[in-house]
Amino acid sequence: MEVAEGIHRVEAPLADRYVAMYLVVGHDSVMVVDTGLDESVRVHLRDYCAAARIDPARIRYALNTHADFDHVGGNGALREFAPGVLFACGERDRAMIEDVETLIDQRYGEFRHHHGFDETAETQGFIREVCRLLPIDIGLTGGETFDLGGRRVEILHTPGHSRGHLTVYDPLTDSAIIADALLTTSVLTASGQPAFPPTYRYVDSYRATARMLLALNARTLLTSHYPVAVGPAAVEFCEISLAYCDTVERVVLDVLADTDQPLSLLAICRAGAGRLGPWPAGPADYLVYPVLGHLEDLTRRGIVHEVPGPPTTWQRT
Ligand SMILES: [Zn+2]
Repeated sequence: MEVAEGIHRVEAPLADRYVAMYLVVGHDSVMVVDTGLDESVRVHLRDYCAAARIDPARIRYALNTHADFDHVGGNGALREFAPGVLFACGERDRAMIEDVETLIDQRYGEFRHHHGFDETAETQGFIREVCRLLPIDIGLTGGETFDLGGRRVEILHTPGHSRGHLTVYDPLTDSAIIADALLTTSVLTASGQPAFPPTYRYVDSYRATARMLLALNARTLLTSHYPVAVGPAAVEFCEISLAYCDTVERVVLDVLADTDQPLSLLAICRAGAGRLGPWPAGPADYLVYPVLGHLEDLTRRGIVHEVPGPPTTWQRT
C-alpha cells in the first residue's frame, strides 16, 4: 500500500502479528526499510514489487532500523532478490544484525544469568530458522542522508528500544519511518489486541526519542506493528509512549514500597503486571525489558539500590 507519495508499506505475517517493511522510491533508486523474516522478503516483498512494478534492480539500499529478528531476518533473501543492494544499520546494533548467535545471546539472552529469564530453545530455533544475516556495508550513527534521486532521506538516531535504533525521515512527504522506536502501552496483534508489553530497554534514551519525535512533529508516523498514524494521531502515539514510562516507573516504585525484602526483576514484573497491562502471564514476563531499564534509571538517580545476586535484586533506598 502506498501510504505517502513514493512510500510503500508491505505487511508480512509474524505469528498472530504482522511486521511492516517500507519501500522509499526515488527517481534513481529505492531504499528498503527493514526486511522482516526470510519469508517476508522471499514472498511478500517480492510479490508487492511485482504488483507495484518496482524493479528490484533499482533497490540500492536496505536499512535495518534495529537488531530484532523480525526486522533483519530477510537480509539474505533481499540480497538474492536485489543483488546490488547495500545494507545499512545503526553502528551500535551492527554486531547483532550481522550474526544470529550474537543476536540470540546479547539481545534475547541478556536476562539469562542474573534475572532467570530467557527465550526457550524452541524460540531460539525459530529465530535461527527465519533469519539469514549478512555483513553490513554501511554503519550509521544518525545525521547521514541518502539521495534516492529527487528525494533525500535523513537518518535519525532514535535509541531506547535498542542502542542503535534508527528512524528514516522523508522531508518530501513529512513522513517518519520510526519502526519500533516508540511502542505505546502494548505491542499489538494483527487484529489490534494487546500482544505483549512495549519492550523498550533504555529509559533515558527512550524518553529523549519520544521528545525528539514530538518536536519533529512529522505529519505521518510509520511503525512496524501499528497502523499508520497521521496528524493528531501521530502526536498522540508519541505522547502515549512517553506517558507510559511514567506509569511503569510509578508501578515499579509502588511494588518496591510494599515490601522490606529486596525483589528480583521477575518478581517486580509479576507483582506489577496487573497494573501495567492486560497481557496473560507468559507474554507479561516481557516486562523485563522496560522494568530493568527503569530499575537501572532509578538506581542511577539514587532512588533504589541494587543488591548483587544472582538473581540481582532491588530495594527502595
Ligand atoms: Zn519489531
